Amino acid sequence: MKKIFYFLSFALISCLSFTGCSSSKETTNPATEQETQNTSGSDSSDNAESNSPQPMQTQDAPASAEDNANQAQDGTLPTENNAHQTQNNTLLTEEPPTATEAPQITEITISAAGDCTFGSDQSSPGSVNFYSVYNQKKNNAYFFQKVKKIFAKDDLTLVNLEGTLTTRGVRMDKTYAFRGDPSYVNILKEGSVEAVSFANNHCKDYGEISYTDTISVLKSAKIKYSSFEKVSIFKAKEKKIGMIAVNGLSGTDYSKNLIKSGIKKLKKKKADLIIVSIHAGIEHTSTINDVQTQLAHYAVQKGANLVLGHHPHTLQGIEKYKGAYIVYSLANFCFGGNTNPSDKDTMIFQQTFTFKGDKLKKDNNVRIIPCRVSSTTAINNYQPVPLKGKSKQQIIQNMNNFSKPFGIHFQKNGKVQN
Ligand SMILES: [Zn+2]
Repeated sequence: MKKIFYFLSFALISCLSFTGCSSSKETTNPATEQETQNTSGSDSSDNAESNSPQPMQTQDAPASAEDNANQAQDGTLPTENNAHQTQNNTLLTEEPPTATEAPQITEITISAAGDCTFGSDQSSPGSVNFYSVYNQKKNNAYFFQKVKKIFAKDDLTLVNLEGTLTTRGVRMDKTYAFRGDPSYVNILKEGSVEAVSFANNHCKDYGEISYTDTISVLKSAKIKYSSFEKVSIFKAKEKKIGMIAVNGLSGTDYSKNLIKSGIKKLKKKKADLIIVSIHAGIEHTSTINDVQTQLAHYAVQKGANLVLGHHPHTLQGIEKYKGAYIVYSLANFCFGGNTNPSDKDTMIFQQTFTFKGDKLKKDNNVRIIPCRVSSTTAINNYQPVPLKGKSKQQIIQNMNNFSKPFGIHFQKNGKVQN
């Protein structure tokens, strides 16, 4: 109260005495905008790449003199560093207003990866399928061993769980059906994966019971899951990251309704960030179809800050639409569904969101980390690995080709060109 009183007196005195007083709190500072837009673009050095990627850092210092000057223009209390204040000193009473603290800067780094199927179809060769590798390794940490250092450094890792985790149920009559032992959930735990999207064409492969069993398994492992009507919130650094997952293959209007109601629910729960996962598109093509575009655009229009797509099993382009990134297809990741896919290219998509207080900055702190779904090229050993050198550059080049229609370009270090 005391602070508010001093602030009001100060504001009143200032306003009465100076004709140039602006009462608008919305005034933005062009310099700040400029700085914000360029944060990730400032690092264009290809030599800066390292084998162990770090979450991106922005260059904002929490309480710089410039920030203080900007605040004064926004109508907040000036600080001792503020040059404008010196002109006003004569007006100040004996008790000068206490300086307000600069809004806190919070950076939230999200890593996203594609299809994780812990299990194989019954038709797959028993010597090389997911179960045989699992039984050989007898180690849940094996599968994400080569990407864990990336996942452990972020604030939230989100993958698409494409299959069930249960011992129960009857196999649905379909070409491929996936079921893994409930203990496989520890692969996520060991890999530092905090959340999954669970709304796809394989989440009920062994009937309704396989779906509900998998959800119980995720719950007891404390893995956040979003699935159709069920939205989830993961808290990191006091920020609420809301997640929604829909299966676009089960109807466009149906999915739109889920997105709309899901975003409504998350906003009600005061989510600071909203991520929408969409399972849609055509398998084995880099061409984005109309359903993918429609749903992704709709999600952004309704308030999504990031849209993550999967189902095509191959990488597709990235679009920036109304300020939000849309990753149309993250491809396979730790994928038991194919013992030797001809296309083993994949990636980890990473975005760092920066908040100044409660306000989300408009920036492009985005990068892709090219990976292969298997740490050997000969076969799928279900151990995704970040790539270096030529194979890394090949994926960046492919992503640039796919993203060209959207005007998105990635530099050699994987960061998006601003
Ligand atoms: Zn799918």
